Amino acid sequence: PSILASSTIPPMDVKIDTAKSLFGSKFSGQTATIIAVAPGRVNLIGEHTDYTGGFVLPFAIDYSTVVMGTGSVEEKPDNQERTASIRFVSDKSPEEVESFEISESSKPPTETAWTTYVVGTVFQYLPDLKSSQSHLDLTFTIAGDVPLGSGLSSSASLEVSVARFVEVVLGDAAFSSVDNDSIKSPAKWRALRCQKAENEWCHSPCGIMDQAVSSAAKAGSLLLIDCRSLTFNETKMNEQSDDTPVLVIANSNVQHDIAGGEYPVRVAQCKTATEALRQVNPNIESLRDATPDDVETAREYMDETSYKRAKHVTTENERTLQAKEELERGDWNRVGELMNESHASMREDYEVSCEEVDVLVDIAQQFPGVYGSRLTGGGFGGCTVTLVAKDKAQDLMDHMQQEYKARTGKHCPCFETKPSRGAHLLSIKDHKPFV
Ligand code: ADP
Ligand code: MG
Repeated sequence: PSILASSTIPPMDVKIDTAKSLFGSKFSGQTATIIAVAPGRVNLIGEHTDYTGGFVLPFAIDYSTVVMGTGSVEEKPDNQERTASIRFVSDKSPEEVESFEISESSKPPTETAWTTYVVGTVFQYLPDLKSSQSHLDLTFTIAGDVPLGSGLSSSASLEVSVARFVEVVLGDAAFSSVDNDSIKSPAKWRALRCQKAENEWCHSPCGIMDQAVSSAAKAGSLLLIDCRSLTFNETKMNEQSDDTPVLVIANSNVQHDIAGGEYPVRVAQCKTATEALRQVNPNIESLRDATPDDVETAREYMDETSYKRAKHVTTENERTLQAKEELERGDWNRVGELMNESHASMREDYEVSCEEVDVLVDIAQQFPGVYGSRLTGGGFGGCTVTLVAKDKAQDLMDHMQQEYKARTGKHCPCFETKPSRGAHLLSIKDHKPFV
């Protein structure tokens, strides 16, 4: 089961020490020269809107994955195609050194293992190698504290940290094969490549949100992402007033299973709804192009399920754009209302909540000082995010733990968080971030 051990996030040094001692014990004789870090994330609002090109408003958290190691690019005259040797160890299974040889013609395995996230990500960078004689050699350790499968996106954190590491090994060659320069920023290409790794290698039809925010987030800001154009809009919470609230995350400790479960079903239902909408307006390419009014107009062409799914997505896009404005304005009551409405929509119309999460949200929404609370992430378990007055945050966390235990028999670890930074490198000498 996933564990958030306490309300204090382990400091970066703990992860670095773990990665370092693993490297020393498993790869003695080699020297680690690179530390890449990428965070997990919490989505404030804009849920299940990314894979139809809509809007999301997530932020990076201090839980992250560290990749430490070394690598090189060699020319091998006998090589027929671009290749890579990948050797790595994770603190999740520290006894096992994983070893993979891949080439441009490698195919994703039918069964996804945790190693598939890593190998699938490295695979995306093979085209950057100079020629079919080029060989990429990577040795690294992985240490992370993002709880697995809890809706805080440990998967994107893993992919993006590996990607950032590979980019350092490739140096100037990283992204050299990208011929579409309509998207110039490496953070965007990294996000797209990591999403591709998860879609094609791990058979999970996830949208771009997790990889985008893990890749591109800036400390202190939420990121409004337009998932169609992949443009990022940094959004700061208004801090003029001294009543700026804080964000509390609570883990229901119910595991979700995104790849195997209902997620692909929702993706398909959105497609069905879009086809119905196109009968009314052929210009609608995806749900992003439709308004809640369009959905009402097209209702007669839809079955009840498609209608409900489209209603959630179109109203959620509107709520997300509005939440950005209210956050900047500092209208916390309105932000809270939007979060509550979002939760109700996910529960009633998108049907991705579950009993335990509804209990958690209910406990928070009733608590004095709370502006709003909702399920965050893909759903069917995972975490909630709550906007609460600063001086009430600790009381809320104590209360949630007690009440949740009383009502479900389960433990719900909670923590207070703030928007943290996206993928970055740390100096191997003093572990300070490179600017
Ligand atoms: P979430 O992204 O919400 O945490 P996912 O099901 O998308 O849930 O991804 C979780 C999976 O990611 C894990 O089951 C594991 O395979 C992989 N993973 C993430 N971080 C690590 C890590 N540090 N070491 C090993 N595997 C990891
Ligand atoms: Mg994930």
